[in-house]
Amino acid sequence: MSTIRLRKVTKRFGSLVAVNRADLDVEAGEVLCLLGPSGCGKTTTLRMIAGLEDATEGDILIAEQRVNHLRPSQRDIAMVFQFYALYPVLTVAENLAYPLHYERLAKEEIAKRVKRVAALLELESVLERTPGQLAEGEKQRAAVGRAIIRDPNCFLFDEPLSRLDIEQRQVMRGQIKELLSGLSKATVIVTHDQLEALTMADRIAVMRDGNIEQVASPHRIFTEPTNLFVAGFIGTPRMNLVEAALTETGEGHCRFELGGQRVRLPITRPGLSAGSRITFGVRPRACEFTSEPGDDTISGTVDLVEPMGAETLVHLLHGEQDLRVVVDRTIRLAVGEQAHLRFEPESVHLFDESGRRVEAAA
Ligand code: ATP
Repeated sequence: MSTIRLRKVTKRFGSLVAVNRADLDVEAGEVLCLLGPSGCGKTTTLRMIAGLEDATEGDILIAEQRVNHLRPSQRDIAMVFQFYALYPVLTVAENLAYPLHYERLAKEEIAKRVKRVAALLELESVLERTPGQLAEGEKQRAAVGRAIIRDPNCFLFDEPLSRLDIEQRQVMRGQIKELLSGLSKATVIVTHDQLEALTMADRIAVMRDGNIEQVASPHRIFTEPTNLFVAGFIGTPRMNLVEAALTETGEGHCRFELGGQRVRLPITRPGLSAGSRITFGVRPRACEFTSEPGDDTISGTVDLVEPMGAETLVHLLHGEQDLRVVVDRTIRLAVGEQAHLRFEPESVHLFDESGRRVEAAA
C-alpha cells in the first residue's frame, strides 16, 4: 500500500529546529500539499521523506515500513524538483526511459511505457528533442513523465510549477491533479503558492516555523482556520483580522466592540463569555456595503479603491484599521465617502486571546 507516515519527526540544524515533531499521514491516492512561508520547513520535511536529509528524531514510514535507515534509492520514491533535472544530452524519449534501465525491462516494454506516458502528458510530438529544445511547460511535463514512468511507492514534488508562467501553471495544476488521481499513490507536494495547494491538494498541511499548524481539506482550511496564522495566511486578499471585545452574549446573538463601534450579530460562541478580548475575522468577500447604518453594521471612510477587473477591492478606514472589502465592479464608491459594512454572520471567525479559533458549537 502506497502510504507515507511521519511520527514525531524532528530535524535540527545545530540549534535551529527546522521541523518540530511533525506528525503526518498521507494515504494511498491522496495528494497532500505542504504549504507555508519561506523557511517554515517544507523542503526539509520533503527531503527527510526522500532520504536526502536524515531525521534527527522520529520515524518515517513509507508503505508502512520504517525507512529512516534506507538510502533515497532504496525508498522507491519518485521525486520531481523545481529544477527539472533532465539530462540535457538525452532526448525526451531517452529521459523518460532512463529510470527504467535499473529495472532491466525488455526494450519493447520500455518503448511501450514511454509511448503511454508521452500520450498521457502530450509529449508525443517532442519525443526526439533534447531539453534545450523544449518550452518550459514541456520540460515540466517531461520531468513529471520521468517520475511516473516507474511504479514507485510514492511521489514527492518540490515546487513543481514555480518556473512556469501563470497560464502554464493553471494548465499544469489541472493536468498533474488529474494524472495523480488515477495512480493510487501517496503524493506530497511542497509549495508556497496557496492557489496551487488549494487546487491540487486533497489535504493541506500548513506549516510555520517548523510546526504543522493545521492539516485539513482545502475547504476546511479556508472555512475553519484553526488559528490566526492560518486565517491570515490562506485567502487572497487576506482575511480582515480586527482586535475586538465581546461585550454581550445573548440568546442567539453576540455584541462586539470593534474600533470604538458596537455591532450586534446573530451568532453564538458557547466557549466565550462577555468581557473576552478576541480577534474578529472576516474575509473581504464575506461582507457587503449597505446604504443605511444599523446595529449590525460598522462605518468607516473609503480610503482606497483598487479595480481588479470583475471585482473591486475597497479599503475602508475604520478607526485605525484598514478593512479590505471585495465588491462587484459595478458598485461605485469614492475615496473619502462614508460607508457602512455588514458582515455575513456565518462567515465570521473568532479567535481567542491565544489566537486559537473559537468554534460555533462547543
Ligand atoms: P523555502 O520555501 O524558502 O524553500 P522551506 O519552508 O522549504 O522554505 P526549509 O528549506 O525546509 O524551508 O528550511 C527550514 C529552515 O531550515 C530554514 O530556516 C533554513 O534556513 C534551515 N535550513 C535548511 N537547510 C539547512 C541546512 N542544510 N543547514 C542549515 N540550515 C538549514
